[in-house]
Amino acid sequence: MKIVKKVKLGDFELFSLRDGEFWLDGGGFFGVVPKVIWQKLTTPDELNRVKLNSNPLLVKTDKHNVLIDPGLGNKYSAKQQKIFKIKYQPTLENSLAEIGMTADDIDIIVATHLHFDHVGACTKIENGKIVPTFKNAIHYFQKNEWEDATHPNERTKGTYFLENYLPLMEAGLVKLIEENVKIVPGISVEITGGHTQYHQIVFAKSNGKIASYWGGILPAVTHIKIPYTMGFDLYPVEIMQKRKELYKRAIAENWLVCLEHEVENPFGYIRLTEDGKNYYFEKKM
Ligand SMILES: [Zn+2]
Repeated sequence: MKIVKKVKLGDFELFSLRDGEFWLDGGGFFGVVPKVIWQKLTTPDELNRVKLNSNPLLVKTDKHNVLIDPGLGNKYSAKQQKIFKIKYQPTLENSLAEIGMTADDIDIIVATHLHFDHVGACTKIENGKIVPTFKNAIHYFQKNEWEDATHPNERTKGTYFLENYLPLMEAGLVKLIEENVKIVPGISVEITGGHTQYHQIVFAKSNGKIASYWGGILPAVTHIKIPYTMGFDLYPVEIMQKRKELYKRAIAENWLVCLEHEVENPFGYIRLTEDGKNYYFEKKM
């Protein structure tokens, strides 16, 4: 079965890759939404966990291979693998191989934020040492997110693992960015806050077409309703405000949306029902 899903965006090519799957506590994933409601959207396992994919997005522009949120990686202890029921299949390597590429072909990495399930794949274990996975890539991280991720507090230390990004800085592969900036032509970021204080979403723009990668702002279709925020979100009220603003822009400008943790096809469009009451996700294919 094919792993990679491909779409055209103007002159760019977008590839939704995979880097394994993991299972998160349903209560944590759905926050204040009661189980009697969320269990109609997804089926929990015997330990009340729900399945999430890791869906990194590769954007091929005319000059660059840009990889957004590389994924989980495979540096987890036996205990962590058990807690999160991590399955390392299909891997990022498998995904890239399917389109005739390797990690060495990636020259730009952009992260929405530095939680382990988004940047775990940025480093790997080689001969007992933790080394960068994408040795030819500059990794663009938001400066204040970097500060938070390198100084985790009691609540955030279960989500920020230094081994995923400190080796990149030591190797001279990190470029810290501030505010909303263009990374390379056609690729830009916009700080949203919400999930983490300096979380950002990533845009790809080519020939008037816009694609957007939402990271923790909208992890999966199950969270399309404005108040369906995660227990892990640090600022849930901000997420609600941000979603309202982003949904309006996404509809007005017909953004292609890519969802990081969706277990089916992650590409689609935000739509509003005719009566103007409910948002929904129209799958691309
Ligand atoms: Zn996160």
